[in-house]
Formats: sequence, C-alpha cells, structure tokens
Amino acid sequence: MTETARSAALFARAEHVIPGGVNSPVRAFRAVGGTPRFISSAEGAWLRDVDGNEYIDLIGSWGPMILGHSRPEVLAAVQDAAGRGFSFGTPSTGEVELAEEITSRVAPVDQVRLVSSGTEATMSAIRLARGFTGRAKIVKFAGCYHGHVDSLLAQAGSGLATFSLPDTPGVTGAQAQDTIVVDYNDAEALEAVFAEHGDEIACVITEASPGNMGVVPPRDGFTNTIRRLTRAHGALMISDEVMTGFRVSAAGWYGHEAETLGYPEGPADLFTFGKVMGGGFPAAAFGGRADVMAHLAPAGPVYQAGTLSGNPVATAAGLTTLRLTTELDVYSHIERAANILRPAVAEHLEAEGVAHVIQSANSMFSVFFTDREVRNYDDARAQNVGQYSAFFNAMLDQGIHMPPSAFEAWFLSLAHTDEILDRIIAALPAAAAAAAAAGGRS
Ligand SMILES: *Cc1c(COP(=O)(O)O)cnc(C)c1O
Repeated sequence: MTETARSAALFARAEHVIPGGVNSPVRAFRAVGGTPRFISSAEGAWLRDVDGNEYIDLIGSWGPMILGHSRPEVLAAVQDAAGRGFSFGTPSTGEVELAEEITSRVAPVDQVRLVSSGTEATMSAIRLARGFTGRAKIVKFAGCYHGHVDSLLAQAGSGLATFSLPDTPGVTGAQAQDTIVVDYNDAEALEAVFAEHGDEIACVITEASPGNMGVVPPRDGFTNTIRRLTRAHGALMISDEVMTGFRVSAAGWYGHEAETLGYPEGPADLFTFGKVMGGGFPAAAFGGRADVMAHLAPAGPVYQAGTLSGNPVATAAGLTTLRLTTELDVYSHIERAANILRPAVAEHLEAEGVAHVIQSANSMFSVFFTDREVRNYDDARAQNVGQYSAFFNAMLDQGIHMPPSAFEAWFLSLAHTDEILDRIIAALPAAAAAAAAAGGRS
C-alpha cells in the first residue's frame, strides 16, 4: 500500500482551518474515498506528494497544464515578469499581447476583457448579455458547469422546464428564478422555451462542448440550433470555452466545429476562456463581438472591474503557454496520445466485461461506466459511479492520479510521452478488474 501518513496528517490539520479541508470541493476525494494527496511539486507529467510518492498526472490542474508541469519557458517568463514587479494596477504590455493572441486565434472574438477566474468570466458575460439586451432571463443546460456563479447554480424544478430552483443554499429563489434550465442536446425543449419566453431571454450559455458532466459533445448540430434560436429571438449566445478553449484545438471547440460542421448560423456572440490561457495562474477572459463588448465600462454602461485583472505574472504565464501551444507541437501530440489511450482503456474494460462508453470532444475524452450513449446529464448520472471509484483507486495505487470524480475528462498534456502512456496502459488491467469487481450493472 502507498504510504500516505503525511498527506493524512495535513488533511486532518486542514479540516480544522479550511471547510472540508480543501479550497475546492472535488479535491476532498469524497466521491472516491481515501486520502487526498498533498502535492509538493510537479514536473512534466509527474506529481510528487509530501510522502514522497510520485504519480502520473491525469488532472493537469483540471485543464491548464497542457504543456505539462513546470515547463521551463513558462517558468522563465514568470520569473522574468515577477522580477519586474507583481502587480501594478495600471495597464501593462502583457495584457495587450495576451488579448491579441486570443483574438487572433478565435475569429469571432474581436475584443476580450481579462479577469482572474473562469467563474468571473461567465458571471461578467451574463451581466453583459443582460445589459446589452435589457432582458432578465438566461438559459443554461443541466450538467453544464460555468463556475460558482449564483444564477448558474440552478436546477430544473421537477416537471417544469421553465421554473428553476437554487442548487445550493445561499442562492436565493430570486437569483434562480430568471434561470431556465434545459437538457443538453434537447433541441425540442430549447425550441419550446424560446416559443414561450423568447422575448425575455437575454442569453443562452452553454459549454462549447460540455466536459463537466464528463465529455458530452453536441449532437446533430446542437450548437447551430442554439445559434439559430438565439438569433431569431434577439438573445445572445455565450459559448463557455473555459475548459475546451486552447485545449481541443488552437481555436478551442469553436475552431474544431468551424472546421468540421461549420457554422451555417454563425458563431456565438460571446466566449469565455480560462484554464489553458492562464498557464496555471489566475487568468481568464470573456470576449466576443466588438459591438457587444463596447457596452462594458469604461466604453459603455455595464460595470465590470478587477484589482488583479491582467496581472503581469499571470499574463506572462498565459501568453507563454499559448505561444508554445501550437498545432504542430501540442495539439497533434495530444490527439495522438488520446488515440493511443482510448482503445487501450476500452480493450481492458471489455476484457473484464465492464460496460462502458468512451466519449470525446476531439482529444478530450472521458470514460462513463454505463452501457449507453451519454447525451445529457441524466444519462451521465445513470453511470455506475462505484465502478469509477474502484477504477480510480486501483489506478492511484499504481501511481496514476486521475480526476477524483466520475464526471470529468482525462486531461492529457504534451508531457504525456509514449513512455508515460505505456505506464498508464500497464495499470489498466488491475483497474479494469477492480471496476469489474465493483460490478453489478447499475
Ligand atoms: C472550470 C470551468 C469554469 C470555472 O472556472 P474557474 O476558474 O474554476 O472559476 C467555468 N466554465 C467551465 C466550462 C469550466 O470548465
């Protein structure tokens, strides 16, 4: 068994001074059981914990570490920036360069405003959409996560697709009541919502290709359906690319879909970014059509601000990460790695008779322990999470650190070389056997 005494002791200390012992809930391992590992350093594809154990990392800080950890060029850029001061509260060069990098990659994004987290990006985009349209209601999809924004922590009330309830104490009924929750990939339900409330809806926000209920890509041109309906009713479309942006292609899911399906109805009006574009530091952004962005203060009336927005150290990390994250060097590598890993996982689960479905958004993928296609949140929740826990723990025991939740993607990076992939694959037979033993088709 892996020695975890120091992690366990730190977790016990943490539980005294930090609620649940963690600063973001999923880190507590409640879904999978066991001791969360306190990581002391990370390099390339490797994490090292305070007990001296090493793990191959499949979390990648939940997406940002697309180049692997402690990439020397990014470290140098961060050190150089920090050597020139930590935060100015004035404009600085890096902000312009990062905004130019983003707008040059994602064609429909004319302008961006930098913020410090994905949550801030979606919250601000929603405010802007409401300010721009003068309307109150917003539409989101069940199972899509957009950060912990009050109005987006809403669940569909039972039976009534158009009446939402707060998903958590602390969000009031008033904050949730303007949120309409629809099943993802359900074009008819979305049509019905617009038929009833079309002239009250400020925006539809969607994950560009959902990754926070596991990977559930849009089916049958669903993105275009959202675009058609929002345009027809004068609502804005917000594509949340905090996870997919600069991960699934140089231009994110937008770039992938533009190349494959195309956008006969046009692209989204607003986009949100985070994760990869911060290179592991707190940098995120929202942006889009210039005429919409012109409504933001100081150009326009919609207020939005931030003491640390465009922070020079975070900006240097993000800019250097993006500049190194090119098709030739990174995206083709990660796609190839995913193409090696997916069939290997399938093969071992099949060998053990474990029902599973692997779903992909280009190179981003997740494994659901279920026997049918996952089109929406209800399908995702029908999977056997006990089997995921068994699989997760067997992988962890063999030094592979997967996301401690069944509702996540496996995050690959440039540092996942063939040698690393071989080690992951070598751990699969025992993990598949553990999933089989946790058994019972739920
Ligand atoms: C991670 C994530 C967010 C929230 O970003 P934070 O930086 O954690 O606030 C928002 N939307 C999506 C799609 C995400 O994956």
